[in-house]
Amino acid sequence: MNTELISIVVPCYNEQEVLMLFYDEIIRVTDEMKKKYEHLSFEFLFINDGSKDDTLKILRDLSERDERVRYVSFSRNFGKEAGILAGLENAKGDYIVTIDADLQHPPKLIPQMYEYVAEGEYDCAGTRRVSRKGEPVLLSFFSRMFYKVINSISQTQIVDGAQDYRFMTRQMVDAILGMSEYSRFSKGIFSWVGFKTKYIEVENVERAAGKTTWNFWKLLKYSLDGILAFSTFPVSISIFMGFIFIILAAAIVIKTLICGETMEGYPVMTALLCLIGGIQLLCMGISGQYISKIYLEVKNRPKYIVGETEKTKKKRGS
Ligand code: UDP
Ligand code: MG
Repeated sequence: MNTELISIVVPCYNEQEVLMLFYDEIIRVTDEMKKKYEHLSFEFLFINDGSKDDTLKILRDLSERDERVRYVSFSRNFGKEAGILAGLENAKGDYIVTIDADLQHPPKLIPQMYEYVAEGEYDCAGTRRVSRKGEPVLLSFFSRMFYKVINSISQTQIVDGAQDYRFMTRQMVDAILGMSEYSRFSKGIFSWVGFKTKYIEVENVERAAGKTTWNFWKLLKYSLDGILAFSTFPVSISIFMGFIFIILAAAIVIKTLICGETMEGYPVMTALLCLIGGIQLLCMGISGQYISKIYLEVKNRPKYIVGETEKTKKKRGS
């Protein structure tokens, strides 16, 4: 059988507390796999997303100790989406796995994922959380709402609870890399490219150590970015509201002409003015959001900047 390389892509931001735990676990799992499937080999590609702690130092040490370890270190924090992109762009494998460093994505599932994909029926195997244990109630509520909203207004269907833990074929990764947009919303991109995905249902796992960088506002922004990236429905809301107000105005005129009744009073006028003004601002805001995204796209800035890799580091040291 031909040898096959599996690239394990790990975005890392301030993960010094958990990185060695992750490394030990991934080595344990992949060594087991190698015993069963001798034709497999692995590379571990860590993306240091501008960490402020000792993450980069640990990665340098690991890459010296273990030649399967590679890393790309950003010049500053560009966000997890950029991390995943850099990982996919730099991975050399026939199969590519994206996995979080905090052990919330259990590495022990990789053999099962490999089997699903290697059998040929699926192009991708991913995990889907079926419980939100340990998550604040309000956050769970808004997450559910988000999936309901985006799936009803976007043609790209996003599976509720699907995680960024995926085992993909090279073909699928190449398709993902073909999407060159600046505002990257991976959950949408993974779904948009199609391909057949097998979801393994998992329970929510807590972080092994360290802390999450997400909070309610960041998640809200992320959700809105997702909607803007995969649906133009919000712009249609303005047209819809415009129609409602035209009909309302016509109704008032007709009522006055036919019944001779007039709506009196300063409060009514003020309320109407405020309502119409508010809706106009809202519609302008929605269009503005899309324009700002277009602005970002046309600037065509790099999505991340590499400060160092295991190769340039070695050159520096020699
Ligand atoms: N991460 C990253 N850049 C960031 C934030 C997070 O590369 O700006 C990485 C982080 O190191 C982890 C993964 O993305 O491996 C998921 O992050 P986190 O655990 O903070 O998110 P959560 O699991 O709470 O959604
Ligand atoms: Mg996490």
